[in-house]
Amino acid sequence: MIEYRIQPCSPEAHLYRVELLIPEPAPEGQVLSMAAWIPGSYMIRDFARNLVALTADSAGRRIPVSKLDKQTWRCEPVTGPLQIVYEVYAWDLSVRAAHLDTTHAYFNGTSVFLRVHGLEDAPCGVELLAPEGSEYADWRVATTLPADGASPFGFGRYRAGDYDELIDHPVEMGNFTWAAFTAAGVPHDVVITGRHRADTDRLCRDLASICEQHIALFGELPVLRYLFLVMALGEGYGGLEHRSSTSLICKRDDLPRPGESKVSKGYRQLLGLCSHEYFHLWNVKRMKPARFTPYDLGVESHTGLLWVFEGITSYYDDLFLARSGLVTAESYLELLAKTITRVHRTPGRLRQSVEASSFDAWTGLYKQDANSPNAIISYYSKGALVALALDMTIRKESNGQYSLDDVVREAWSRYGDGSDGMPERGLESIAREVTGLELEDFFERYVRGTAELPLEGLLRSVGVSLRFRPAIDSKDTGGRPAAEGKEPVPWLGAILDTSDGASVFRVVFSDAPAERAGIAPGDEAVAIDGYRLTAGNLDARLQDYRDGDTVTMTVFRDHVLMRHQVVLGAPPEDTCYLAVDEDADESALVERRRWLDAD
Ligand code: ZN
Repeated sequence: MIEYRIQPCSPEAHLYRVELLIPEPAPEGQVLSMAAWIPGSYMIRDFARNLVALTADSAGRRIPVSKLDKQTWRCEPVTGPLQIVYEVYAWDLSVRAAHLDTTHAYFNGTSVFLRVHGLEDAPCGVELLAPEGSEYADWRVATTLPADGASPFGFGRYRAGDYDELIDHPVEMGNFTWAAFTAAGVPHDVVITGRHRADTDRLCRDLASICEQHIALFGELPVLRYLFLVMALGEGYGGLEHRSSTSLICKRDDLPRPGESKVSKGYRQLLGLCSHEYFHLWNVKRMKPARFTPYDLGVESHTGLLWVFEGITSYYDDLFLARSGLVTAESYLELLAKTITRVHRTPGRLRQSVEASSFDAWTGLYKQDANSPNAIISYYSKGALVALALDMTIRKESNGQYSLDDVVREAWSRYGDGSDGMPERGLESIAREVTGLELEDFFERYVRGTAELPLEGLLRSVGVSLRFRPAIDSKDTGGRPAAEGKEPVPWLGAILDTSDGASVFRVVFSDAPAERAGIAPGDEAVAIDGYRLTAGNLDARLQDYRDGDTVTMTVFRDHVLMRHQVVLGAPPEDTCYLAVDEDADESALVERRRWLDAD
């Protein structure tokens, strides 16, 4: 058994101290490495850069260590047990790495635990030590690492079956709020770190009804315990899935307050995030791409299937809010229409398929630049719409006999034990087998191709009408009809943001008026027809004009003033809203209930 001991040794300096004891190191010299990325976040992060002062000892003697590459070390051969000691700098307030100060400690195993080459399958003991000092006496521990002597929420001994498990249970230490509920008879904990005044009873009640929807879809809950680990911050948003837990960051104002009963927009988004990460417990943490069995955390790992694991998850996350009755059908359709708007405003959807977007996640979605909206599409948002279109196509063509639920359930029964990952065309085969439908054309056009999704006709078959209208202004994110009496501003086709106090064009859309006139990303806005132009007053300035008007725009590029004649265009119909169709026929009404209602 490999033994790890970890202690927040210096909260003020953001340092963890880690000791690693290897009883039987490799006789030819033990190789150790740090992960370059964390499962669920497809970007090279080089966690080794935070590792400092590594030493190796054996039988009371210092052992020479050489570095093989940016993240790999080799210890000289020894005959007895080998002890490695190092520190990890932890100052990344995200769900992906590690964070430590005098208020709390949080880490993912990928950020702190060295992998012992050749012993990846060996069981690991993990001792969690409290920081020294009376000011930390009330700290507790929240993790789903199985206890091996530690009392509930206590410091002490935990264990992991192998390296893969070791890095899949994030750990929070501090003085946090704890609440609990059960779903399908399984205990679920909610731990909230950071100052907040949340109504945790309501949060637990709402999470329980969402979790029950997920469990009903998959037919089982393959964990003995589940933990929602929430960091409540002034600003922030994010989540990362794990096999028995999830790490979440939310705005403390998005948590429900005591006495409130309404679902605010912020709370709706938080519930959607919890729903998303919980769905991952099945979809990606157990059922996963063949390319991820096993994970190679040293280099990029390419798969064209992220649209399945993130897109389908993104489709069900909000859908379950409707199915559990926490949000109305209208509220769900508003969320869906916002997603359609986002995709429709991204010209890259016509240039990159969701399969290609998945494959290139490492250098595309995770490394976006000013050209990204013109060149790439998100396998989250477009993937969710492909899942919607697939669901609607199956419902329509099988006359309501099947839905995407049946496909997901079959995929789970085939790949849920995690031993065989899903092959690159695995979902397609299952969809065809389960439904008996000829779906090759669907996958060719909408998964491997970039054809526009036929959502209007598909949604009509479930009694929902889809409409597009022009954006009213730059703050209009869609989801609702235009407010009465509001005229859309003419179209410039660029996004102006504030950066370091200046108003700078962040995105210039392909073949739009700004691009045709010669404006480029990075240009600093100065004036429009002699009036000062800023990110804050762009809409107001454009309101002075009509489509077809020519305006003079001045910008700074590389400290040089440039003048452009821009012919403003008619705003494109890229803003979506959906409505329940009151005149839909009986079969569409039945199917809409099946789609949006619990049973
Ligand atoms: Zn996800």
